[in-house]
Amino acid sequence: MSAPTSDPSLHRKVLLGLVLGALAGGLANSLAAGSPAAREWVNVLADGVAHPIGQIFLRLLFLVVVPLVFTSLVVGVAGLGDLSKLGRIGGKTLLFFLGTTAISVVIGLTLLNTFQPGAGFDAATKEALMTQYGSDAAALQAKAEAQNFTSVLDGANKLLNMFLPRNVLQAVVSMDMLPVIVFALLMGCALTLAEKGRRERMVEWMETVGGAMVTIVGFAMKLAPYAVFCLIFSVIAKFGFDLLGKLAMYMALVIAGYLILLLGLFPLLIRVLCKRSPIEFMRKAMPIVGTALSTSSSNATLPTSIRIAQSELGVRPSVAGFVLPLGATMNMNGTALFEGAVVLFVAQVFGIELTLAQQAVVVLLCVFSAIGAAGVPGGSLPLIMIVMAQVGVPPDGIAIILGVDRLLDMGRTVVNVMGDVVCAAWIERGESSGASTA
Ligand code: ASP
Repeated sequence: MSAPTSDPSLHRKVLLGLVLGALAGGLANSLAAGSPAAREWVNVLADGVAHPIGQIFLRLLFLVVVPLVFTSLVVGVAGLGDLSKLGRIGGKTLLFFLGTTAISVVIGLTLLNTFQPGAGFDAATKEALMTQYGSDAAALQAKAEAQNFTSVLDGANKLLNMFLPRNVLQAVVSMDMLPVIVFALLMGCALTLAEKGRRERMVEWMETVGGAMVTIVGFAMKLAPYAVFCLIFSVIAKFGFDLLGKLAMYMALVIAGYLILLLGLFPLLIRVLCKRSPIEFMRKAMPIVGTALSTSSSNATLPTSIRIAQSELGVRPSVAGFVLPLGATMNMNGTALFEGAVVLFVAQVFGIELTLAQQAVVVLLCVFSAIGAAGVPGGSLPLIMIVMAQVGVPPDGIAIILGVDRLLDMGRTVVNVMGDVVCAAWIERGESSGASTA
């Protein structure tokens, strides 16, 4: 599945779109703050102009996610050649996912334990936020309840449904990526065992379909700088900046956690595991960062990650096709860090002390819920409520942080997808240093 050559100045244009969109959104927000008429105009501009332009870009990306994931994984697994190789690469990939996710939660908890941003939180602000965002929290609670289980049998069935549904088309229709991934892996394995001629014909066909999807992503990327401008503009233009001050410490700590991962852990892994220059790597990955920031969705960023990993970062199609779809669904380092931070912050605001043992439970639950979270904006929020309930923190307390979540979601999505790309580069390095073909 070859990636078309990308515009070398694309990342600069995307970042420019991002910065200008944020500035224009900030300006519109401050103009709207003083006058209801101006607020109305800003809303019309954000909802009637910026939103649809941004959505065309987003939908072009979402449109190709299922066929791209499916064909990439089938070609990836079949391209690996034999099942023992799949086992080795799969094992390394899962090890990376679990290891970095656990480290991420621990970083989040350490920051929150050290700086205690929720201790002494103003009671009136707490009540105001609970009232203002209470209904959003109740809607999330309904989603959380649908995912929670009522008995061991119910839990077992929900777990089975998560990975292995009876009807794969239903999973496709609702864009449940885990079952699609499992089905694609099974198909890839089955093809590996098929007669050579048939296998090659099928793989070639899948490569053609996947290649066409990548080309569609290329179309979307031409729109990216303008769409990114519009997406960021509509978020910032309507954002409640007055909340920033009240939640500044919490936000600063979560963002500091993201930066520890992006500028500390990942560059270290790029240097040590991938033996590459972190600066060069990050520079080439900029279009991925721009897409993640503007979409707040690992799934919507996946087509760009696959394209850039292949065309810019030298990751072969079989490795990118295997690691990145799995990562977009299962590996969410930023989300894991954020989940731990939210649980602890809300506990602090409510004056609930979580013991070390309880925090160890939080680490474990956050690792699993980060794996289970959907790669869409706010995908992790219902799962955080489940974690909160498990350790005795009131789940509706999540209302306190909902008003600023979109900004933090942008950041955690960047961390999530960058973790996947670093993992793909590590696996690529292992494959190219061994005598491998793909
Ligand atoms: N928006 C995140 C992602 O798509 C998921 C989340 O943490 O809400 O990666």
